[in-house]
Amino acid sequence: MFEVKNIEEVNLTENPVIAQMSKYNHEQLLFCNDNETGLKAIIAVHNTVLGPALGGTRMWMYNNETEALNDVLRLSRGMTYKNSISGLNLGGGKAVIIGDSRSMKSEALFRRFGKFVNSLGGKYITAEDVGISPIDMTWVSMETNHVVGLPGKSGDPSPVTAHGTYVGMKACAKEQFGSDSLAGKKVAVQGVGHVGEYLVSSLAKEGAEIFISDIHEPTLKRVAETYGAKVVGLDEIYDIDMDIYAPCALGATVNDETLSRLKCSIIAGAANNQLKQEDIHGRAVMEKGMIYAPDFALNAGGVINCYSEVKGLAPEWAMGKAEEIYTTIQNIVKRSQSENVPTYQIANKMAEERIEAMGKVKLPL
Ligand code: NAD
Repeated sequence: MFEVKNIEEVNLTENPVIAQMSKYNHEQLLFCNDNETGLKAIIAVHNTVLGPALGGTRMWMYNNETEALNDVLRLSRGMTYKNSISGLNLGGGKAVIIGDSRSMKSEALFRRFGKFVNSLGGKYITAEDVGISPIDMTWVSMETNHVVGLPGKSGDPSPVTAHGTYVGMKACAKEQFGSDSLAGKKVAVQGVGHVGEYLVSSLAKEGAEIFISDIHEPTLKRVAETYGAKVVGLDEIYDIDMDIYAPCALGATVNDETLSRLKCSIIAGAANNQLKQEDIHGRAVMEKGMIYAPDFALNAGGVINCYSEVKGLAPEWAMGKAEEIYTTIQNIVKRSQSENVPTYQIANKMAEERIEAMGKVKLPL
């Protein structure tokens, strides 16, 4: 049975690492050290019931090993849920390299890391994440084939992520307004970077009334002029009259403070970890009558794009698969309403149910 163990059942003081793995049922951790290159990394394989564990490598100056361990455990588990809810035959994993991404990178360090990835024999497939560039991944790929998102392969995932976000937003509109048309709907897009701009483009084509904010003035101006969007202030975005709030920049923007100001009836954006505290703010959103599209289900286009590279599928496949996010979000919202349970909890349950069911399929005959 795939389940999250209660923390009280494990003794964290006697055996802290395995106890933490046991808390969320992680399969394997690989601690990597190499004094010659300065590599210090942790690879976490959370769950491989659905397939090899896929998740990016993050390079970050953690304050201590505990911070790095917590991050890799949390992020790898998140990938299991994202890959499962997206209907991919992939498990969840993640890697963290402890160090300053501005000063500690070298070909040797990444090739050494690639050897560690390779030692897992394909159980973990890596990709870019925060602090990692395409050239770093090219070095990793010199030592292992278990890497995706390389230059010249599946390419920038942002259009696929934006498309999934857009169709998922339409699914929310169908449930909330009775029609999935976004024509005339007021949509506020926070952050018009890679994903945000593609989203704005789709919204503009459909005739939505678009409001945008961004800290980068030249981008803001260009996107506003190109798509006829209205510019709003960085903080003002929480107060404007809107139907849909689409966070596409930062996490934790759905919190006590913003919820007392937001007047939208749908929250659907690409940013990761939008709910500041899942249990509190996921429920608060529901009690306000808003629909929240769980971020990890809505922004799965990026991992769908990676999967197309793993399987050698054409780029059009990824766009087609991202279309399925419409149905996924619709199912989550309908079930949330019938069970009176917040959408993020339903999405977690659906991800767990698929792992449990597919685990049975894979049992030996
Ligand atoms: P990006 O860096 O290209 O764009 C983010 C934009 O947000 C930038 O233009 C930045 O200036 C702006 N921004 C930063 N702080 C802001 C603030 N306080 N208010 C308004 N704007 C602000 O990133 P991206 O690739 O477009 O990703 C956007 C979000 O979606 C991120 O949270 C990312 O983790 C998530 N995401 C992206 C993908 C993908 O395929 N790129 C996949 C899954 C999730």
